Amino acid sequence: MSETKYNHCHSHRFVKNGNYRRKSDNRKFQRFQCRNCKRNFSEQTFKPDYRLKQRDLNLLIFRLLAGGMAQREIARTVGICRNSVASRVIRYGKYAKAKLKLYREQMPKSDLVLFDEMETFEHTKCKPLTMPIAVEEKTRKILSFSVGTIAAKGHLAKISRKKYGPRPCQRKELLKKLISELRLCCTTNPTIKTDRSHHYPKLIAKGWKGKAVHKVSKGRRAAVTGQGEMKKGGYDDLFFLNHTYAMIRDKVKCLTRKTWCTVKKIKMFEYLVYIYVHFHNQRVEGKDRPTLIYQQLL
Ligand SMILES: [Zn+2]
Repeated sequence: MSETKYNHCHSHRFVKNGNYRRKSDNRKFQRFQCRNCKRNFSEQTFKPDYRLKQRDLNLLIFRLLAGGMAQREIARTVGICRNSVASRVIRYGKYAKAKLKLYREQMPKSDLVLFDEMETFEHTKCKPLTMPIAVEEKTRKILSFSVGTIAAKGHLAKISRKKYGPRPCQRKELLKKLISELRLCCTTNPTIKTDRSHHYPKLIAKGWKGKAVHKVSKGRRAAVTGQGEMKKGGYDDLFFLNHTYAMIRDKVKCLTRKTWCTVKKIKMFEYLVYIYVHFHNQRVEGKDRPTLIYQQLL
């Protein structure tokens, strides 16, 4: 992996210290010792598959996770324990998150971005979550995403407060984070398309100091197909956003409508979406041939 950081203490003073052969595939790796803290490490220490057994399952599990299969079902299909699928979700998720960050830093500056929030819930509808997601229109790549809690709405609000107490609303800070991430990968005066939510205009004006062009489209009724994300009446300004959202809903198991696989832990859910995001961005680039993702995980 290119973003490998050598060293525990971030010192650049280290010397070669022998080597070893990895049992699983007999590859040879260099060992080092840090001159500063005297700790030993190897080329492999900071890689995403450090001390991972059964590396040959990486590709398969990664694809199944990004293809809408539940973790228990993956465990049964592949023939491993479900805890080890869960631990791989963390590994792959961290890797995918780092890759997305790297992509934002290296991509050509974008001038047309769409964003909106997708809603889901953890365990019960009384504990809703919001997920702001930004998509670049030209490439259809997902540029930024985060997840956080919001208060329940409508008739569930009262029930939610009674059962689970007050629920913090993280919407504003998530949107601020999204905009600060977009600022890094957008031109100084980008066009931003959103729906008519009243949360956005102020934040967009503030984020780009009034230089961004904010185009607002009216939200439309959901079509029968497309996971409630595709809208009736075909193509419109937010088509690529809605289409990407429909893909996310279809391919991340706990986001699928009417599923009984619900979000249990926000952090794990975040990793799962990062895994899909990585896969999605590769796919729209035409790079979803298995070997490519596999090689990158090595
Ligand atoms: Zn050190």
